[in-house]
This record gives sequence, C-alpha cells and structure tokens, in this order.
Amino acid sequence: MTTETNGDGVLSLPISAKGRIIVALDHPDRQHLLELASRLRGEVGMVKVGLEAFVAHGPALVEELAASGHRIFLDLKLHDIPRTAAAAASMAKNAGVELLTIHASGGTAMVAAVRDAIGDSMAILAVTILTSIDDAGLREIGMRRPIADHVHELASLSIAAGAHGVVCSGMELERLKDLPGLRVVPGVRPEGAERSDQRRVVTPAAAIAQGADYLVIGRPIVASQDPVSSARSIAASICSTSHT
Ligand code: C5P
Repeated sequence: MTTETNGDGVLSLPISAKGRIIVALDHPDRQHLLELASRLRGEVGMVKVGLEAFVAHGPALVEELAASGHRIFLDLKLHDIPRTAAAAASMAKNAGVELLTIHASGGTAMVAAVRDAIGDSMAILAVTILTSIDDAGLREIGMRRPIADHVHELASLSIAAGAHGVVCSGMELERLKDLPGLRVVPGVRPEGAERSDQRRVVTPAAAIAQGADYLVIGRPIVASQDPVSSARSIAASICSTSHT
C-alpha cells in the first residue's frame, strides 16, 4: 500500500490494490444495488452510481449509500451550458459524493463554471472520449485525428480549467503523462472477459502499470455469479504491479 496525493490534493489517500477498484453499480433494481454495494464493502474502494441507477432512484440512493459509509463516485457525465452544469454539480455537494464526472467537450467555460461552483468539495473528473468509441466511431462524429490526440487535447483543457482529473481509456495513459491530476480508467476487462459494448479496453494490471489511479469496473464484477470473488481476483491481478 502507498500513500499518494492525487489531483489537487482533493483526495489524499492510502490506496491499496482493492482500493483502486470502483465498482459501477449498473442495475435497475434498488434493493439489488444496495445488497451488491453491501457485499462489496471492504472489497473495493468506491461505488459508482451512474445514469441508470440515478435516473431510476435519484439522489435518495446516493444519500443512502453515503449514509451506509460507501465512498461515492457520481457518474452523471454532465454536459450542458456552464450555468446549468454548475447548478447541477452543486446539487451533489451535500450528498456525500467524492468524485463527479462532467464531459470535457463542454469546453473550458463549462469546466471552469463547475469548478467554481463546487470548489474542492469533491473531485471533478472530465470524461474525454468514451471508452465505447473506436477510431471509426470517432470519425463518424467528425473527429479525425488519432484518438489519443483528442483525448490529450480534452484532458489538457479540462485540467487547465480546473478539473481534478480525467476519465480516459488505459490506452491513452502513456500519452497523458505530461498532465497532472487523477486518472480514472473504465473499459477495464480481465483477460478473457467479454468486451461487450466497450471498444478501448485494457486489463486491470495493464491500466495500473500505465498509471491509472482508479479502475472503473462494472459487468466483470456486477454481472458475475460471485461478485466478491471476481473483485478479489481483479485486486490480486493488480496488486503485484509497481503502481500499488
Ligand atoms: O460494465 P463496464 O465495466 O463496461 O462498465 C463501465 C462503467 O463505466 C459504466 O458504468 C459506464 O457508464 C462507465 N464509463 C465508461 N466509459 C467512460 C466513462 C464512464 O464506460 N468513458
């Protein structure tokens, strides 16, 4: 276990291998979500409430998880005009959220407005290019340079505008080495696991070796027959890497 100061010092935590895992609570059923979070307590570092769970159950779910002692990543991927994004972000301020996502493509004004609104009460993570997008998908939306270039540009503007870190795939971590801030990596798949709709995937060990601070992992844990043993085997696969 090492102690690290992440981002602007918003999170200054000892991080073990299992502490680097953020489990994505992607499921429609409230009771199931709460039970899953409870079974995974002590096996992962944080739980992530994403759009599916938040649209279904709202801030009350976040508050209930926080009240039960879970550390919370609220993955709303805010993307709107600066005032609206900032107002939405400030609603999460008192809910016990530690990490909140916004879209880097909202631009400097939006990122800065969110940071002004929430200060250091939680860490803002700017989503660069979704891990479900590959080269062809990027070209389709008019972005024609290599993915890593776009990721770097978006990460760079977000950090300059006040984001505490970025969300990117493990494939771009090397390219982001010159930037400060947290690195949170979804699109993580243990060797041999189903890729599903994800496109830019890496293994947990590879992401940590490349410098990820946290791994966001959903289906490989939550859709497993035995989520606890899946989380443990992922932690075991990363605990021998140099970054932990
Ligand atoms: O099931 P899986 O491991 O693919 O889940 C990944 C989680 O990370 C999902 O909740 C998804 O919304 C989220 N996410 C992502 N790619 C991003 C940002 C967040 O997959 N760029």
